[in-house]
Amino acid sequence: MSHIIHRDLRRVPPVAVSAAGITVTDRAGRTYLDASGGAAVSSLGHAHPEVLAAMHAQIDRNAYAHTAFFTCDAAEELAARLAAEAPGDLDHVYLVSGGSEAMETALKLARQYWLEAGQPRRRTFLARRQSYHGNTLGALAVGGNEWRRQPFAPLLMDVPRVAPCYEYRDRADGQSTEAYTAALLRELEQAILAAGPENLIGFVAETVVGATAGAVPPTPGYFRGVRRLCDQYGLLLILDEVMCGIGRTGTLYAFEQDGVLPDLVVLGKGLGAGYQPIGAVLARAHIVQRLRDGSGAFQHGHTYMGHPVAAAAALAVQQVIQRDCLLGAVTARGTAFRRMLRDAFGNHPHVGDIRGRGLLIGLELVAERAGKTPFAPEQRLHAIIKGEAMARGLMIYPMGGTIDGRRGDHILLAPPFITTEAELAEITSRLADTLTSSLTSSLA
Ligand code: PLP
Repeated sequence: MSHIIHRDLRRVPPVAVSAAGITVTDRAGRTYLDASGGAAVSSLGHAHPEVLAAMHAQIDRNAYAHTAFFTCDAAEELAARLAAEAPGDLDHVYLVSGGSEAMETALKLARQYWLEAGQPRRRTFLARRQSYHGNTLGALAVGGNEWRRQPFAPLLMDVPRVAPCYEYRDRADGQSTEAYTAALLRELEQAILAAGPENLIGFVAETVVGATAGAVPPTPGYFRGVRRLCDQYGLLLILDEVMCGIGRTGTLYAFEQDGVLPDLVVLGKGLGAGYQPIGAVLARAHIVQRLRDGSGAFQHGHTYMGHPVAAAAALAVQQVIQRDCLLGAVTARGTAFRRMLRDAFGNHPHVGDIRGRGLLIGLELVAERAGKTPFAPEQRLHAIIKGEAMARGLMIYPMGGTIDGRRGDHILLAPPFITTEAELAEITSRLADTLTSSLTSSLA
């Protein structure tokens, strides 16, 4: 009997007792290859000696001092580094304890920005369907994951949503990628006009969609078009890089590959790489300047913001990524991994699409390829896949059922940046066995 309220109230998961490199070991002595980095978290693998040493040193020096009284070197250094490596004038950093907290922070910062600009009517966000921005009430409200939102819908602010950029599902036969992108941007413009630009705070989107659709990158030019519309109608652009940021796609920030500069960037997961709970918001200079010139304070705060040990861990993660040239490694290994997956599943009757950027990769599963017909949610394919994968010592992140009224199952793969090609081949082989047995029992 466990006293923890686990995710699944009817089943206690295996007890993890140790973890090193890309492997996690449970109390029964079984080992698991971490092919999803948890949920795209463990970018450096487990027990990285330099991150552990940085945390130990920080604990010995100063484990905690409340930010109402002090700042600390680790947090200052981390913020300076994130700002220096971010493009443009994304010069300011707000440090919190995770992705949802960071999203709440970005939403409030954006609202206060407009308040202090003398535009209090701006109180609505625009967001996208099939998106996930966190599980707290503000983050759920801008998210587009209906099964997560539905029980709490009466508690959520109203947020109009537009289509995500999801070429595999939504580009019509015969339609070019350019025409599809232009149609999405027209839909966004219509939504802005319908809501009234004077009522809008900003547009919220994941640069590369993570768990709700399975590593879906934007089409070329999509975010440049979004930025243009945000500029034209005076909306802030808030990009959620909790899953796709901090190197996961081969650049430190995924939006660098889309040629845009957002006003606010939301970070989590890979920032602490699983060593400490930490999230952050990067803000452009004009946002912070307005608050500085206005009330002089951001009306927000959390007890554990800017935590010294979390900041020290995240700083060490940044140092390792740079010193070991891991961004280049992500690009190279991502390409190799996608090639292996295409070789293994490119002609698979139930793998409709293999996509992603860097080491954030998705496989979309279909009952029938030509029509892209999804599996029925009652088959609970994603749940079967998770069980079969764990039985083969493989951690992957399948999602499925019905998300925002759309059916579909996909598998998210996000191995640590240090995963070798031999390990990627082993992951591919275990995944093949997993799929075969899952589909056999699901189709039986
Ligand atoms: N945003 C995105 C894109 C995410 O994938 C997640 C978590 O999966 C979050 C926000 C929320 O982060 P957290 O679970 O750390 O609160």
